Amino acid sequence: MSLAGKTAVITGSNSGIGLGVAHELAKAGANIVLNSFTDTEADHALAADMAREHGVTVRYIQADMSKGDDCRALIEKAGTCDILVNNAGIQFVAPIEEFPAAKWDAIIAINLSSAFHTTAAALPGMRARDWGRIINIASAHGLTASPYKSAYVAAKHGIVGLTKTVALETATAPITCNAICPGYVLTPLVEAQIPDTMKEYDMDRETVIREVMLARQPSKEFATVEQLGGTAVFLCSDAATQITGTTISVDGGWTAL
Ligand code: NAD
Repeated sequence: MSLAGKTAVITGSNSGIGLGVAHELAKAGANIVLNSFTDTEADHALAADMAREHGVTVRYIQADMSKGDDCRALIEKAGTCDILVNNAGIQFVAPIEEFPAAKWDAIIAINLSSAFHTTAAALPGMRARDWGRIINIASAHGLTASPYKSAYVAAKHGIVGLTKTVALETATAPITCNAICPGYVLTPLVEAQIPDTMKEYDMDRETVIREVMLARQPSKEFATVEQLGGTAVFLCSDAATQITGTTISVDGGWTAL
């Protein structure tokens, strides 16, 4: 599968799943635009290292996905966006009566509204170039709920709905829009939760992972960022041309329960 000559913009890609997806798309030959809200030497070094490793062009463009204008500016500054991966996301956990309104607004803005803005900005170019792939990184929480994650679950269900609508609006064009729904993935964000959870439950690392974190993941294994990147590369392949408006779960059986 070669994506040579295509440009992929991945939101929220200086760590975790976004970075993993960017690596796999670069490995397949795509030029890459990395993004986050920061603008550090490390961010630009990440781009330079990825370019060296895969022999493609990699740029880092700062844009805050909580702001609609920044989302649209990211696509404009990218110049070309053949593959759009809406990945930026944050989490906050609290009972709904105690859920801070500001956290609700931030999660809806970053996890859902950003994809509306980037998609609206990227589609005219995709239509003009007669090819496009939009991949929304949703979650098992786009298909099922957990307590205390009201904003996250609402945003992720929302992005599944947005995925279907964009697919219908682009159905007769050579453009597809799909959502990948990961279960638990061992990203730095998740890794950082392990020590506290070990203390809270007085369990060792392996027991915390198996009994607490992966309680709802029947495979009892984390999904990896490489597997998610591989799924994204598949969705960009010719074999996936008629796959649009759907969700692909990479969740070790979570949503089969
Ligand atoms: P992460 O914290 O490692 O990555 C999140 C990325 O989003 C980072 O690059 C961060 O800089 C960026 N980001 C945060 N706020 C931003 C903003 N305002 N503007 C631009 N970028 C911003 O987390 P992750 O686990 O890699 O999560 C990535 C996506 O995958 C999220 O949408 C998350 O909901 C989803 N997801 C993660 C898991 C998991 O288990 N890790 C499971 C299902 C879905």
